[in-house]
Amino acid sequence: MNAVELLAEITDVGRDRTRGGYSRHLATAAGSDLRDWFAEQARRRGLDVETDRNGNVWAWWGAPGPDAVVTGSHLDSVPGGGAFDGPLGVASALAAVQDLAGRGFAPARPLAVVVFAEEEGGRFGVPCLGSRLLTGDLDADRARALRDADGVSLADALTARGDDPSTLGPDPERLARVGRFVELHVEQGRALDVPVGIGSAIVAHGRWRLRFTGRGDHAGTTALTDRRDPMIPAAATVLAARRAAARAGDTRATVGRLVPNPGGTNVIASSVDLWLDVRTPAGDPGPVVDDVLGAAREAAHAEGCTVALTVESLSPAVTFDDALAARLAAAVPGAPMLATAAGHDAGVLAAHVPAGMLHVRNPTGVSHAPDEHAEDGDVECGARALADVLEELAR
Ligand SMILES: [Zn+2]
Repeated sequence: MNAVELLAEITDVGRDRTRGGYSRHLATAAGSDLRDWFAEQARRRGLDVETDRNGNVWAWWGAPGPDAVVTGSHLDSVPGGGAFDGPLGVASALAAVQDLAGRGFAPARPLAVVVFAEEEGGRFGVPCLGSRLLTGDLDADRARALRDADGVSLADALTARGDDPSTLGPDPERLARVGRFVELHVEQGRALDVPVGIGSAIVAHGRWRLRFTGRGDHAGTTALTDRRDPMIPAAATVLAARRAAARAGDTRATVGRLVPNPGGTNVIASSVDLWLDVRTPAGDPGPVVDDVLGAAREAAHAEGCTVALTVESLSPAVTFDDALAARLAAAVPGAPMLATAAGHDAGVLAAHVPAGMLHVRNPTGVSHAPDEHAEDGDVECGARALADVLEELAR
């Protein structure tokens, strides 16, 4: 089975009938189905499958051991996401293993395919949850207390699906086995005009929650002058984010999620939660966030509201390992180098082990939405490039 056929196998799993596209989240039926599907496909290829203490699934070719060559990605999605972000890397890894076995290749060191848990943070808000727990970049107690939109904690969600939340936490022994990590991923913009590129860097990015608090009241009987409506400063903040990003130059600031409480058509909200996503090649998103927060405070004050800021995640800029990138470039001749403003598990691992990425062309340039796409020919090119890379690294 090639990567295109593997992706076709999961085309019906986790479809989101409301939003369109896919909603595949941790500790849901779709998440469990995908984890089982991966384990089954890995076993069919003769790999030994194990789930680590943080819910990441590892499939080993050869006994687990030091200096392993590891590839993989994730199977979860954003709410209403595309079919390729994550699954392309997993399907390509499985196809690459099969390709290498067909070539008669026997790895000289352990080779593993990993599926990281909750890379998008689509359910519990923190991206790269599985890889951050593995490396110790996310505190286990903080992780267990994370809550989804319905108020369910990560600990309770894991328990409900038969997983043990008490095992979450750093896994230095496992991390020490990883000699090199290479993640193949669909390109998330229109930067590639050839099938495959090589990741050079990931820009700094983070997520912040702003909670505006005012006074809940009646939409009809409350005079405009008597209102303390938190939606007013929230709306001003959406516009301030766009202005702050434009002022900073080459920076992206987005409000993609805004939740009024209680959220009634004829109700002035008592509070509004707003999530701000900022990404900047300048290295520090702090000044842009300060700029937005300044505008948010001013607008909140003018309306008689308050605003509180919570940092949900912060990812420093990543430059991928030069020596590894050079080996990827040698294995995939002609592939251009590419920096990305999208976060990845490879970016988390890069702070601990040599890590690198392959990107596969996306003709729509759209990602985190149903229109995300990769042509079959490019998918196969990507899987072949990954096989060439793994052969070079594991020989
Ligand atoms: Zn991804």
